Amino acid sequence: YAAKNGGSGAVVYDPDIDKASQQSLSLLSELRHAAEQNEFRLFVQPKVDLASGVVSGMEALVRWVHPERGMVFPDNFIPFAEKTGFIRVITQWVMEKAAATASELARQGLRMRVSVNLSTRDLMDQELPQKFAAVLARHQLTPAAFCLEITESAIMDDPVRAQHTLESLHAMGVALSIDDFGTGYSSLAYLKRLPVQELKIDKSFVLKMERDAGDAKIVRSTIDLGHNLGLKVVAEGIESQAAWDMLAAMGCDQGQGYFMSKPMPAEDFAGWLARWTPPLKQSAAAREVA
Ligand code: C2E
Ligand code: MG
Ligand code: MG
Ligand code: MG
Repeated sequence: YAAKNGGSGAVVYDPDIDKASQQSLSLLSELRHAAEQNEFRLFVQPKVDLASGVVSGMEALVRWVHPERGMVFPDNFIPFAEKTGFIRVITQWVMEKAAATASELARQGLRMRVSVNLSTRDLMDQELPQKFAAVLARHQLTPAAFCLEITESAIMDDPVRAQHTLESLHAMGVALSIDDFGTGYSSLAYLKRLPVQELKIDKSFVLKMERDAGDAKIVRSTIDLGHNLGLKVVAEGIESQAAWDMLAAMGCDQGQGYFMSKPMPAEDFAGWLARWTPPLKQSAAAREVA
């Protein structure tokens, strides 16, 4: 692979191509090694009901703790894992860990739905529904304990096959969500036909809506669109009390964000939940009175 045809029929050595393909080969072997050596960690971020402040679930977010490089964030290896197909190994691992976390919380009397992110490759995997069913059985969970998040762009990569996989998962009774809504090129005609129950507004709009009237309008219209289609709407990227209040006033159902909590190791979730007190508007009013 280090050689390419120079046009004259002679094979010309291109050091750049060599370097790039060597780098991806080594990243792939590092990922395999990471899986064998248990270097992946499951982090979770709470999902909160914006009207009541009640925590209703959590999103599973993978991290790679590399022996030399330290914490590697998903944006630095998930896209590569998707390209090479290694994502299926990661997805299996995340589903397994997410199920273990949900069933451990259930043992403590905490019923929390766990959301897991799927990629395009996962949607193309004919065996995904069976693999998922096997995970549920191993952890004695019902499909309702899970929500599966699929980005708008993953769906639009191959809408027909995506729809097929989503129909099978929906028939099993698992909740489905469209992630990063507003950043891809969804056709509303598809959106209407997909068996999803939730729409997540991309954080890029939420992060800017307090300063940018255009973003605020996009957020408000997305909430209305979701509700008109009978979907629950979730906002990601809530970083302030003001953002929470604004979204709650717009009728947004749920939210996630650094204001409530950054993603944390799954083992820390129960402890965090025990300390959680909802920062509702009433408490601000109560402070004024005091
Ligand atoms: P996502 O599914 O849209 O997840 C939300 C991302 O927004 C997470 O980044 C989360 O840490 C971040 N976030 C949440 N609240 C805030 C906030 O208030 N402010 C800011 N600035 N960011 C916030 P993270 O964990 O780095 O994950 C990035 C993306 O990587 C995810 O976006 C998802 O697409 C992908 N990903 C993560 N874990 C997995 C996985 O297990 N499988 C797959 N296929 N993809 C994953
Ligand atoms: Mg997500
Ligand atoms: Mg998202
Ligand atoms: Mg995202």
